[in-house]
Amino acid sequence: MAAKAPAGAGAITVRTGRYFLCPKARCILLNDRQFHAVSLSGGKDSTAMLLLMIERGMPIDMVLTADTGMEFPEMYEHLDKLDRYLYQERGIHLTTLRHPKGFEWLMFEEPKQKASSIENRTKLGVSLNGNGWPGVKVRWCTGQLKTHLISKEVNRLKGEYQAIHYVGIAADEPKRIKNERYPLVEWGITEKEALQICYDRGYDWGGLYEIYHRCSCWCCPLQRIDELRKLRQHHPELWARLMEMDKRALAQFGHNPLGQFKQNWTVEALERRFAMEESQISVFDFIEKENLMKKKEFDSRAAEDVADMIRGVSPKNILLSFGDKPAKPLEEYVKDQKKENTSRKKHRNDMER
Ligand code: SF4
Repeated sequence: MAAKAPAGAGAITVRTGRYFLCPKARCILLNDRQFHAVSLSGGKDSTAMLLLMIERGMPIDMVLTADTGMEFPEMYEHLDKLDRYLYQERGIHLTTLRHPKGFEWLMFEEPKQKASSIENRTKLGVSLNGNGWPGVKVRWCTGQLKTHLISKEVNRLKGEYQAIHYVGIAADEPKRIKNERYPLVEWGITEKEALQICYDRGYDWGGLYEIYHRCSCWCCPLQRIDELRKLRQHHPELWARLMEMDKRALAQFGHNPLGQFKQNWTVEALERRFAMEESQISVFDFIEKENLMKKKEFDSRAAEDVADMIRGVSPKNILLSFGDKPAKPLEEYVKDQKKENTSRKKHRNDMER
């Protein structure tokens, strides 16, 4: 979705006012009012903000989004859907900003320019091209593929048109507030409410938020192991691409922070771990099912015997004993059963974590 001028762009009337688009000069001349630029990451907060701004008749002149090229396919579908809605309601398209060469070029091919970095890499015998996997300390991707692109454009708009910049931060994330406009904060809308606002209007990201906690780059090494486990399960084609990228990174940079996906994990090692966990879970499931069946048989036989024995006896005087186990009051037996069930459930949850 590159930035497109609506067909026959000359003078366009939109619900909130009138502006003139000059496609050649790639600039917008405003008629006596401020310019309103909205940042859209595509996540739940910025989506809810955009949907509500449209619904509430707020002025919108440009909606900026940065594409890393590594978003989930469902995210691209979501952005297409939003783009159609925005065009239908306001006659403008999303303005998509992209690094000219993209994530993988930056990761593997960008030639190093700084003398100190060339010197360091030469000493360590590491490739002079590419930034390697992003890390906590060196998140080159966020800057080069998102924030620099957006802030450069926003600064240009602010400089040329005193633009107001709208950012989708929810009311329960006050630490992220800086010096822009935050409609969700102004309206007191939390992250949870933002997601519901999107769902209520039919924007569900094809179920992405039901699976993952976060919906940014699928290849991000900073995501939690549990998210990667889900990636393998729900997006095997992306998991296969991630394995390829990791092999290439290891071959080019070796086992160091540039070449290794996570500090203690290569993607291949994670693949082995997940596969092993999967087989353990299926063995566990099998054993548990077997035990459950035996237990059911045992329980139904035991129940019949007990029913005969206790007929007419006061519950206080009922003691139960199974096999060679010591006799217990009925009440205690019931409590133990409950405890056993809870600990079995906990064990199962631990295995799945
Ligand atoms: S989500 Fe991860 S990989 Fe993507 S830009 Fe952010 S830090 Fe980089």
